[in-house]
Amino acid sequence: MNCGCVDVVATGLLDLFDARRLMAAAGMAVAGSEHVALADAVDRVLAEEARASLDLPGVDNSAMDGYALRLSERSVEGLPVSLRVPAGAGVLRLPPGGCARIFTGAPVPLGADAVAPQERVRLDAAGRVLVEGELAAGANIRRRGEESRAGDAVLVPGTRLSAAAIALLASQGIDAVTVRRRARVALVSTGDELIEPGQAWVPGQVYNSNGAMLRVLLAQQGCDVIDMGVVADTSADLGQCLARAREQADLIVCTGGVSVGEEDHVRPVLERLGGIAFHGVAIKPGKPFTLGWMGPSLRDGTPLIGLPGNPVASLVGWQWLALPLVQGRQGRTPPALQRFPVMAGFSRPGPRGRRELLRVVLDWTGSAPVARLAGGQGSHMLSAASQAHGYLVIDANHNVEEGHVYEYCPASQFLD
Ligand code: AMP
Ligand code: MG
Repeated sequence: MNCGCVDVVATGLLDLFDARRLMAAAGMAVAGSEHVALADAVDRVLAEEARASLDLPGVDNSAMDGYALRLSERSVEGLPVSLRVPAGAGVLRLPPGGCARIFTGAPVPLGADAVAPQERVRLDAAGRVLVEGELAAGANIRRRGEESRAGDAVLVPGTRLSAAAIALLASQGIDAVTVRRRARVALVSTGDELIEPGQAWVPGQVYNSNGAMLRVLLAQQGCDVIDMGVVADTSADLGQCLARAREQADLIVCTGGVSVGEEDHVRPVLERLGGIAFHGVAIKPGKPFTLGWMGPSLRDGTPLIGLPGNPVASLVGWQWLALPLVQGRQGRTPPALQRFPVMAGFSRPGPRGRRELLRVVLDWTGSAPVARLAGGQGSHMLSAASQAHGYLVIDANHNVEEGHVYEYCPASQFLD
C-alpha cells in the first residue's frame, strides 16, 4: 500500500480495512431461529440449507413458441401438425410422421428432439410445417435438471432472502423456511444538546438526526430496534442506560460521545463496565469510531458499536465498519465490498494520515463515468451524503487530481 500506512501506525489509528476485518470477526451470530411463511421471509436470513426437491426444469420443455419435431423426419414436403401442446399439458408422445404445435414452457413431447421457432416456420396450403434454415439436435429445448437436480442445495445458510431468492424457493414448491431470529439492537443517542424532531427548538439545540437515520438503517438490516432515546452527557446516566441496554439487547449501537473531550463519556463508561476493542480508525470522516463491549468480554458480553456524533461520520461508520458486525450478528455472511476505478472530475488536497471517503455523484454524460463532489464534505453536512451515489476513496497523504483514477464504492451496496 502507499505511504499512508506509516502515518496510520504513527497516529495509532487502525487501518480502515483492518478495522473492517475486526468488525466482521466480532460479528458472532445470535442464537435462535424461527419458521416463517415464505411471504414473510423477505430480507430474513436463511438459517438452514434449502434443498431442491425437484429437478429444475422439472421436464424437458420448450424455450420458444414453435413446432416440436423429430429431426430425422424433417423433409421438403413438410410435416403435418398432429399434436397441440400448450403450457400445463402433461408429457405426451409425438406420433410418427407428424410434428407438435408447442408453446413456451410446455413439455416437449416424447420422441421430439428439437423445437423450430415459429418465426422460422412456413405453413403450406395444407397446413404442413416447413422449417427454414438449420436446426440442431436439442435446439430450443430446456433440459430437465439443467439448472438444478433434486437434492442439490439451492441456497446456503447465511443468505439474505431477496425477492429472487424467494422466487427460487417458490420454484421448488417451498412455502415456509427457517430463518434466523432477528438481532435485538439497542440504539442510544448521547448528547445534552439533542432534541427529537417535532419538539420546539431553542438555539444551541440539535435535532437527533442520527437516531432517525440509525432506526432506519437497523430496520433495513432486519434488526429489532430498541430505541433507548437520548441520554445526557454524564457518566452516571450513560452507565445506567448502557447497563439497561445490555439486559435487553444482543448489540448496542451508540452515537456521539466517543471522542476524547471531557463531555465524551462512552470510553470511560466502557472502561468501567466493559471494555474497548479498538478506538479510532484512519478515515475521514469517522475517525473516533469505537468497538467495545458491556460485560465480561466481547465474546461473553454485549458488543457496543460507538459511532461518532457528527452525522456523516456516523453514516460512514455504519456503512463501512458497523455493517459487517451487524450482519454477522444476524447470522448473515457479509457481502464483499464492491469497488472499482472511476475518474475524478475535480482536484482537491488530500487528507493527512487518514483515508478520505469523499461523497460523490457519478456523471454519466461522457463516454465513461466521472466522479464529482456531491456537495460540501464537512462531517456535519448531510446534504452531500443524501445526494451521493457513492464514495471516492482517497488514500492517506494523496491529493485528488482531476483526470486521475481512484477507487469508487457504490453506496447502494450498503443497503443490501
Ligand atoms: P460528539 O461526537 O458527541 O462530540 O458530537 C459531535 C457533533 O455531532 C456535535 O456537533 C453534536 O451536536 C453532533 N451530534 C451528536 N449526536 C448527534 C445526533 N444524534 N444527531 C445529530 N447530531 C449529533
Ligand atoms: Mg456529544
